[in-house]
Amino acid sequence: MRRLAVLGSTGSIGRSTLDVVRRLAGRFEVVSLAARSRADDLAAQIEEFAPKRAVLTDERFFGKLKERVGAGGVKLACGGDALAELAADPSVDVVVSGIVGAAGLMPALAALRAGKLLALANKEPLVMAGEMMTKAAEESGALIIPVDSEHSAIFQALKSGRREEVARLILTASGGPFRSLSAAEQARVTRREALAHPTWSMGPKITVDSATMMNKALEIVEARWLFGVGFDRIAVMIHPQSIVHSIVQYVDGSMVAQMGVPDMRLPIQYALTYPERVAGGIPAPDLAKIGTLSFEEPDMERFPSIALGDEAGRAGGTAGAVLNGANEAAVEMFLAGRIGFRDIFERISGALAKHKVKKAPSIEEIFEADSWARATVAEGA
Ligand code: NAD
Ligand code: MG
Repeated sequence: MRRLAVLGSTGSIGRSTLDVVRRLAGRFEVVSLAARSRADDLAAQIEEFAPKRAVLTDERFFGKLKERVGAGGVKLACGGDALAELAADPSVDVVVSGIVGAAGLMPALAALRAGKLLALANKEPLVMAGEMMTKAAEESGALIIPVDSEHSAIFQALKSGRREEVARLILTASGGPFRSLSAAEQARVTRREALAHPTWSMGPKITVDSATMMNKALEIVEARWLFGVGFDRIAVMIHPQSIVHSIVQYVDGSMVAQMGVPDMRLPIQYALTYPERVAGGIPAPDLAKIGTLSFEEPDMERFPSIALGDEAGRAGGTAGAVLNGANEAAVEMFLAGRIGFRDIFERISGALAKHKVKKAPSIEEIFEADSWARATVAEGA
């Protein structure tokens, strides 16, 4: 029985994780659950999965959670620090992180320092502090299993050859809902249009990231840290059907890809049962029905995001924290109706241009860079 901590349990990844647990009954024990504000949803999950501990980070909703849960067997806690405690708990084997954004960095580091198997959907911490996280994993013997579908695909495809035989990693991208729009047309898109993804159903922040393709910018940096491959050897290819989840190209010209339906339960299940594969009820793609799988190069002019990810990734140090913090702030402003869609790119590139990169930053310097980026974006960088 694998013992799980599910962080961000009320979100899209968290709910899919609990669905995998439900489908593979008897394989997993849910030791702890954590969320930010949805007290009712968390209370319902506590009732169903009977964890030992649960955390709600936003204190404004904690009273409601206590009221809903009552004096049962679960130990409740409040606040951000409690997340790291759940992640390092000795009675947990696998930490699943489905938290969105920078809030997941401290719990991810805590899980890695404690030598856990970290099933990581929450990519933002790797963009902010990839060097620190991979070092922590090396020191403790912890393993990061990517849940992000592209990185799960690469993780699987890398098993076909040796590291020195890898020529390129090719991240596939659906291209999002605005794949064919000109820059002028993009400038007029609404929040509602940006939140309607053609192939994946996800939380609001990553759905906007998919529309801007900033998601791919973050994923380039994520891939660099997960797989230790230089930026020159990481490419992006648009693949609107979202069936080929990514590709490893080897030196002999072979390409090894992983295919599957666009359902996050598949990479989640792979991470949870790793190194085993089990039948969990997710069907394989019906290729004859899909008919065509197409690929095209991304348009760097209409989507400056990929170049921004590349630039920040190559700059290293605090640039990753600035890329991520600026993006999080710009997405929040867009969702609040305060800036337009194309302004997201302007604000991020403005912040990156103004930033003085600090190499080998401490965790304090990483969070300082994050706060600076958010403030700079808010001021209209
Ligand atoms: P979501 O918004 O649906 O859920 C986020 C979860 O994190 C919620 O449970 C929320 O309570 C929790 N959370 C947010 N802020 C928190 C805080 N400060 N402290 C504690 N918990 C907090 O987001 P999502 O779509 O599930 O995405 C989660 C992460 O996984 C993101 O980093 C995203 O990029 C990544 N990811 C998601 C998908 C997907 O299909 N949804 C695919 C690949 C990667
Ligand atoms: Mg992805």
